[in-house]
This record gives sequence, C-alpha cells and structure tokens, in this order.
Amino acid sequence: MTHILVVEDEPSLRQLLANNLTFEGYTVDAVGDGIPALASQQARPADLIILDLMLPEMDGFRVLHALRERQDQVPVLMLTARGAESDRVQGLSLGADDYLVKPFSVLELVARVKAILRRTRPVDRPQTMRSGPFRFNIPALEVTRQGRQLDLTPREFRLLEILVTHPGRTHSRNELLQLAWEADARPSPRTVDVHVANLRKKLEDEEGHTWIATVGREGYRWTEPVEWDAIT
Ligand code: CA
Repeated sequence: MTHILVVEDEPSLRQLLANNLTFEGYTVDAVGDGIPALASQQARPADLIILDLMLPEMDGFRVLHALRERQDQVPVLMLTARGAESDRVQGLSLGADDYLVKPFSVLELVARVKAILRRTRPVDRPQTMRSGPFRFNIPALEVTRQGRQLDLTPREFRLLEILVTHPGRTHSRNELLQLAWEADARPSPRTVDVHVANLRKKLEDEEGHTWIATVGREGYRWTEPVEWDAIT
C-alpha cells in the first residue's frame, strides 16, 4: 500500500489531510513538526511526504535538507504560504517535487499527490482483487462471479469499485455522488439508490445475498473482506 507522511503543525488541517488521504486508500502518518517527521520517515519510510514549510521547531527546509543529505529521495510536496515565492524557489532547489500554496482545496491536493505518485511510482497498487465470489479487474472494468462476467454499466462499475476498494467503510449517498458522478452532472441522492438497487440485482445470488449493506439512513457498505492480488 502507498504510504504518505503528512507534516503540518496546524491540527485541523493535519486531520483534514490525513482523513482525506486515508479515504483515498493511502496509509497515513501525520506529525506536527520536523523532528518527529524525520523519525517517522526513518521508522516507516513514506512513498510521499506532504511537508508544511513553516513548522514550530524544525522547519520544512531543514527537513528537506536532512532527507536529501541522507540520500532519501522520497517525493516531497511542499505547502507554502501565499506570496512566499522565495520559499518555493528555495524548497524546489532543495529537491522538493512540487508545491501547493495555502489555502488550497483538498481535491487539488489529492490530484497533486496522485500526479507525483504516477511520475515516481507508475504502479502503486495491484489492479485486480477478489472478494466473496467475485473477481475484479479495475482497469478492464470487469467483474466476474465464478468465472462468469457480470454485465455492469460503467456507472455501476464505478459505484462497485468505490465500495469494494474500501471494504467495511460506509459511504453516504452524497459521497457516492461526488465520487461516481461528474461535477456538472450530479443528480439527486435518490439516484444513487436507484443505481445501487440495479447493481444489487446484478450481484445477487440464489439466496438473495447482494454483498452491499444499507447502513441505516447513512449510505452503503461492502460487507466482504477484499484480497488484493500481488503486483506482478
Ligand atoms: Ca505551519
């Protein structure tokens, strides 16, 4: 699994970043200063570090310098203050890979993280997996049950992919709308129910088992554990 270290001293922003990156399927360590950042990176090396430059004890420049000095080439996305252009220049010259200027949207941050990881680790997770009686091939948009391919629409596949890649986690209707529909074409949350109902019909076995649980008024959850195939 791809591991990300978040170094940000502002607790609410740190938590927001950690939550969103965890939601995206990364494992996340989050610390509030440079020294614990270097310790964390030594104990459990990250695949990418999100590094705030302004930190209370040991700032981001010194962290970056220390990393590169010990030959750690981990990709670094810097967080900089608005207008601090000299900071960005200094950070990039110290070997940071990219930067974001505060305040930024979480969507933009996630997009930058993915872009950096694509550049630096082309294959960051396996693309095929099994769960219950199903096998999934994400890039091919294929799901089979006991070898038989199920006939899903792309939207149904996307919904299923979101649920299956976060087993046990409940997704609200609004979350599913945001993740599975384009921003300019978002219908009402009821539409999610209609699509999930169709999806369940296609997944259902003879005993009526559909593997998608309705969680009260909240949303939906995939009920089975998932086994990712090894990267080949
Ligand atoms: Ca700061």
